[in-house]
Amino acid sequence: MTHLSRRHALAAGLGFGAAAFGGTGASARPLIALPDDLVNSDAATITAISTPSAVVAMTFDDGPHPTHTPRLLDMLRERGIRATFYLIGNRVVQYPAIARRIAEEGHEIGNHSWSHPFLDRMGDGAVIREIDQTTNAIFQITGRPPVTFRPPYGAFSRRQRTWLHGNRTLPTILWSVDPQDWRRPGSNVVARRILQNTRQGGIILSHDIHRGTIDAMPQTLDGLTGRGLTFVTVSQILGWPLWQSRNFRRVVQTG
Ligand SMILES: [Zn+2]
Repeated sequence: MTHLSRRHALAAGLGFGAAAFGGTGASARPLIALPDDLVNSDAATITAISTPSAVVAMTFDDGPHPTHTPRLLDMLRERGIRATFYLIGNRVVQYPAIARRIAEEGHEIGNHSWSHPFLDRMGDGAVIREIDQTTNAIFQITGRPPVTFRPPYGAFSRRQRTWLHGNRTLPTILWSVDPQDWRRPGSNVVARRILQNTRQGGIILSHDIHRGTIDAMPQTLDGLTGRGLTFVTVSQILGWPLWQSRNFRRVVQTG
């Protein structure tokens, strides 16, 4: 936490939210957008980090997927790249071997809720059940609980973010780069959007449940590396120890 207070998080305005890629349909409200009330990042809400070195965090949401996630893991392993996977709890219990592989290969696993609902429409009791059930599943399969949370659709109010941080010490991790890959614009477009909009300290949103996103990754990863950027996990970009190196026993007992 001391690192986080020293390195101030960047304001969301520096990021590239859904508006940057506004759809052609006039009525289309982006399904995934940064919350309207997000003016400044704080300890409870992270969109990007002001880092001293040229690092970025690649994040993949909504897995594990039975075929796309393993293919992505192969690509990351070939390149020696660590990423962060925001897993859905009910998919973790469906594909435990893939979740275990993600952790064993040095990637970080974050909490992305149990059933991917719009949490901003739910009461605190239901929200915490979604989050705790997912934390427990990840802990049982990998031996450690997630230390960060990403709300489905980014739909989580400031009050909810502050409340979660206060009650579970989970910061809400949003993003500064959104390629809108879930719209399946094609792998070249996904790669171009990420390459055009990624800056040092950025957190890149993507989804490892779409073939086109995985197809975009060689070009994307090699392009960012070629620009001198190094990939780190979300914990690392926050200045925290590597997820795998942490001993959570005490946290779990008191949580
Ligand atoms: Zn999601």
